[in-house]
Amino acid sequence: MPFISTEIRERCSECGACVSNCTFLTRHGTPRAVAAARDFSDPKDRGMAYECSLCGLCAAVCPEGLDPCALFLEVRRHDVASGTFDARPYRSILNYETLGRSRLFSRYELPEGCDTVFFPGCALPGTRPTVTSRLYRQLRQHVPSLGIVLTCCAKPSHDLGRTVHFRTAFERVLARFAAGGVKTVLTACPNCTRMFRQYGRGLSVLTVYEILNRHGVTETVAPGGGEISVHDPCPLRDHPEAHSAVRGLLTDLGYTQVEMPHRKKTTLCCGEGGAVGCIQPRNSRGWAELRRQESEGRPLVTYCAGCVHFLGQVTPTVHILDLIFRANGTPDKDFPVSKGPLTYLNRLLLKLRLMAMSVSGE
Ligand code: SF4
Ligand code: SF4
Repeated sequence: MPFISTEIRERCSECGACVSNCTFLTRHGTPRAVAAARDFSDPKDRGMAYECSLCGLCAAVCPEGLDPCALFLEVRRHDVASGTFDARPYRSILNYETLGRSRLFSRYELPEGCDTVFFPGCALPGTRPTVTSRLYRQLRQHVPSLGIVLTCCAKPSHDLGRTVHFRTAFERVLARFAAGGVKTVLTACPNCTRMFRQYGRGLSVLTVYEILNRHGVTETVAPGGGEISVHDPCPLRDHPEAHSAVRGLLTDLGYTQVEMPHRKKTTLCCGEGGAVGCIQPRNSRGWAELRRQESEGRPLVTYCAGCVHFLGQVTPTVHILDLIFRANGTPDKDFPVSKGPLTYLNRLLLKLRLMAMSVSGE
């Protein structure tokens, strides 16, 4: 029985603040009611933990300082440790992670004197290889000895409670960094950012948005304009520097920002969180639908490829890096991105391009 369950049963006042904000708790009741009604040592009662998006909004709004999100992650971990986890619904996302970590798709480019690396994650290079290259080129103007690392941070395993898988994969990355003298990681993906901030053991972690906002963007291809709203990705709800940087970049691009009720620390999940879409697509879509309502018809700008994918199914949503580095779209008209098997091909081609650049000393 996870110990957090006891704490929540004892301390949750059932104020309802988390319930009113959450599509999952709206169906199941307050965390206290959930914990009281279930015996998490019984595999049958553990299934509901996979319906939680692990977005952390409940902890952000709880006046008692409780963290119901941690309870549901702990139940997942307990399920895996007990050998009752059913991986079948998650095959595709786990294969995605395994391939991302494989020798075929991984690459560590650590030039002489490099102590800082760009870690673009999996989704950005797969869906937007040209944007990734342009971003890397831009970052190198600010950090000349910048390296780049293509691999997966293993957050899917983390969120599914596969602690041993996650730790093994993540430790491997940290060991390569330590051997190469890497001390700072520049991240584009909110999920990777969260993993490095939480488990990076002293690594300095900065988002690329902070770097671009601090040093300026010389590669901007098209100035923008008009009203937009920023959707802050939930893994970065506790990262105010990223919130400010993205808003600063959008101001510089010429956009007028209208804030939504749920933003920054109290931002909403886009629907991707916790791999809920693999088992409860309707619940997952419910989050995106909330966002659509809050945007009141304005295009959404976000800084996570996964959020663009999920929110884009219900309302126009663009990645800020598309606005900066691509000329063929506007916030109210999606920029076309690669999907499916093509994303794997893009990652391989990007890796080959990096190897060629390394050989030519470019
Ligand atoms: S983590 Fe998100 S989805 Fe899960 S209970 Fe909290 S608010 Fe709801
Ligand atoms: S916000 Fe905190 S105290 Fe209120 S119902 Fe949720 S967990 Fe309980």
